[in-house]
This record gives sequence, C-alpha cells and structure tokens, in this order.
Amino acid sequence: MEISEQNVKGEAHILCYSFAIQGHLNPILQFCKRLASKGLKVTLVSTISASSKLIKTQSCSSIDVELLDVELRDTPNNSKEGERDESQHYFEHYKTIVAPSLAAFIENQMSSNYPPKFLVYDSIIPWALDITKRFGIDGAPFFTQSWSCNTIYYQFYREKSKVNAFEDQAMVLVPSLPPLKINELPSFLNGSGTYPSIIDLCLNQFSNIEEVNWLFFSSFDKLEEGAITWMATQLPVKAIGPTIPSKYLDNRLKNDKDYGLNLFKPNTETCLKWLDSKQPASVIYVSFGSLAALEKNQMEEIAWGLKNSNIFFLWVVRESECEKLPENFSEETSEKGLVVSWCCQLEVLAHESVGCFMTHCGWNSTLEAISVGVPIVAMPQWADQPTNAKFIEDVWGVGMRARGNGEGIVKREEIEVCVREVMEGERGKEIKRNSKKWKDLAKEAVDEGGSTDKNIQEFVAKVLYM
Ligand code: UDP
Repeated sequence: MEISEQNVKGEAHILCYSFAIQGHLNPILQFCKRLASKGLKVTLVSTISASSKLIKTQSCSSIDVELLDVELRDTPNNSKEGERDESQHYFEHYKTIVAPSLAAFIENQMSSNYPPKFLVYDSIIPWALDITKRFGIDGAPFFTQSWSCNTIYYQFYREKSKVNAFEDQAMVLVPSLPPLKINELPSFLNGSGTYPSIIDLCLNQFSNIEEVNWLFFSSFDKLEEGAITWMATQLPVKAIGPTIPSKYLDNRLKNDKDYGLNLFKPNTETCLKWLDSKQPASVIYVSFGSLAALEKNQMEEIAWGLKNSNIFFLWVVRESECEKLPENFSEETSEKGLVVSWCCQLEVLAHESVGCFMTHCGWNSTLEAISVGVPIVAMPQWADQPTNAKFIEDVWGVGMRARGNGEGIVKREEIEVCVREVMEGERGKEIKRNSKKWKDLAKEAVDEGGSTDKNIQEFVAKVLYM
C-alpha cells in the first residue's frame, strides 16, 4: 500500500528539533517525513547556520520547517587547530543561546491552532526535556549515531569510567558487542584526551534517560540486533531507520527522492552526466562527509592512491578542503576523475556506474551505502567512525578498512590495494554478496509491517491518543 504525502493532517502536532549539521538534519528530517506520512502534523525546528543557508527542495513539502534565528558560530570540525577550546565554548554558547529561543518558540506554538503534543529532540541537547516539561508536553531524544556506538557511550556513562579507563586493555568488552580494540572505540574514548567537551556531550545524552518513554535512532533491528536487544531490556529503545529517502528503500512515500534540506549546494547534473558516461560498477565514489578536515598529506595520499589505481573516481572535496589537493590535480586527472564540492550523495550511490564507496564512515553515509548495497572502503577519521568501520568490515562484511601507518596516515599503496580488492578482488565478491543481503534487510525493515514500520506506527498511535 502506498502512503500518500497528501494525508489529511490530523489534530496531533509534533515538533522535532535537529542540530543544524547535515548529518543530524538528514535522519531527523526523514523521521519527520515518515511521521507526516502516517497522519501527524510535523514541524522540524533547527537554527539558521552561521556559514550557510539551508536550501530546501520539494521532497520535504509534507512537513513544516522553522528555523530559530539565533546568532551561532560555526560548528567545530575535527581540524587540529584549537580543538579543545573551540568545541568547549561552542556547546556552552549553544545552550545559552538556543534554550531560551526554543522555549519561546514552543510557548508560541502552544497558543496556536495546533498546540504541539510532543517534542522529539536531538539527543545532544538532553536539556530540551526540561523545556517540554515546562509546557506540560512529552519529549524523547533522537540519536544520530549507530546503536552500537551509543551502547558504548551508555556503558561508559553508567560505569562512570574515566576516559582513559581502557588504555591498558588489549580488548574492550561492552555487553552485546564484539570485543573491541582501543582504536575501534569512538575516538573520544581512546584515551588521547582530545575534545573533552565532546566526550561530555556524548555521555550526557544519557543524563536524564530514565525520564523518557521513547529513544529513537536511525538503525534497524536486524542490523544491530545484539545492541538493540540488550538495551531494550533496560531502556525503551526504538529503531526507526534506515532514515533515508523512501525512493531508495520501500518507495512508499511519494516524491521522496532526496532529503530536502541542504547546507551545501550539490552539483547534481554534472555528477549524473559524468556517471552516465561510465560502465556499470566502474567508478569509486569518494566522500568524507560534511565536517571532516583531513591533513594535507592525507589528502595527497588519497589523490595519488586514486590516480595510481587507474579506476574512475568521483570525489567530493568541500570548498574548505580544496586547497589541500595537489596542485592541478583535478585538471591532470580529468580523464579518469571528477572532483566536485558537493553532490546528491544518494543519487550518486544508487547510480549503476558506482561500484565502491570510499567513506569516512559517518553513520548516515554508512547506512546509505548499506541501503543501496554499495561496497565500502572505510577510512574513518574521528568520533563514531572507527566503530562504524569495525562493523562494516568484521560484523556486516560490507567493506574493507584502509589502515593508517604509525602516524595514522593511510598511504597511497594501501588505498590502491583496498579499492582494487573491493572492486575487482576475491574478497570483493564476498563483500558484494553481503551488501546485497543487507540492502534487502534494510528495505524489509521500513516496508509495511517491517520492524521499523511497526515502531513508527506504534509511536504515531500513542501520539494520536495523547
Ligand atoms: N552528503 C551529501 N553530499 C555529499 C556528501 C555528503 O548529500 O557530497 C550527505 C550524505 O548523504 C549524508 C550526510 O551528508 O547523509 C553526511 O552525514 P554523515 O553522517 O555520513 O557524515 P558527517 O557529515 O556527519 O560527518
């Protein structure tokens, strides 16, 4: 049965708040669309970004989008300069500015024709729950990382572990997860002591978790069965993913072919035209997401690794990263490669010419590759990415990790070996079989009667009767 976006909006209005970065907006926005397709009136709330405006497309027409007009600095990324202070000050500043503005917004909505009944909030602002209580409505967090990763943070939070607690252990044991090496933990917990304020942010997601009746996250039951089943014995967790546009999964939401809110302008036509001219499964798509800031020598190694592989490549290099490319690289490799500043990633991944995705393993990119069945070369940078890479390689078997040398730099030879193996090698064949399996399971989860579909339906039914 097809779900129409034109569903008559019910009386029940819910708000969803997202931190204004692409990796949070995309999954929360998709959740909003699913809720709207089941009859709720949904308003997505975020902030206007300091550096760029949100570009809205037709595919989010089923929901309302409201941006709080607040003065915020740029979001910290993983660049080395001033790393500690930058993020510490940023998140203190964020709360001071956003909390009153969000409260004022909700207050205003309470006296509208559609007073909201519920706030789904980005899990990195657990303080939003206090705001909802002031207005007598309920709230629940939305986690934008993998559930396995959250299980690690939760364990850390519960045990009140010191950040360097695992430093001396060869393997870290977290209930329900495979044994993890230190460098397979989220980078903030690997004992290096960098980004202390982001560690607080990750652990504080659980600070008031006993008070909520729902915890949402973008994953699906079969993908993270162990972690989800284990956590379900302690907390009301609900997997509602993969949160990617419906066209690439069940195709039940009309015109849902992209996310719909872009912080960067995509070069869609250039990419698709270029891909159209290539053979099936002949291109490596390379992207490190919206935040990663690579070392200059790492960018150079990637550039020469791609060139030496002699395989076609489409590489997203954000404007802020462009200066790190070797001089005249784009011009000199134009026969084999296309470098763009941003693209519509899902359309690219789903294109038949793409045979492999070299990624930083951000959670959305990982889920997108799994959902469309594209094999991965994993090059994690920071945060949850090393853990995602571990699962990609060893648990789901959908890719291969390109490993760094002693200084953490992935050399050109390693890159060449990995892309060749995934695209053309024996191991690649097994990876392709696994990718197909997980793609089918992702679709099954969101399709009518699947585990994700049921979880969303259950929540909507509760909100409608609140
Ligand atoms: N993305 C995109 N175009 C690009 C690169 C990335 O649309 O050229 C999207 C991608 O589809 C994903 C998001 O940006 O949904 C990045 O999120 P992810 O969690 O993978 O990484 P982050 O940017 O948060 O590090």
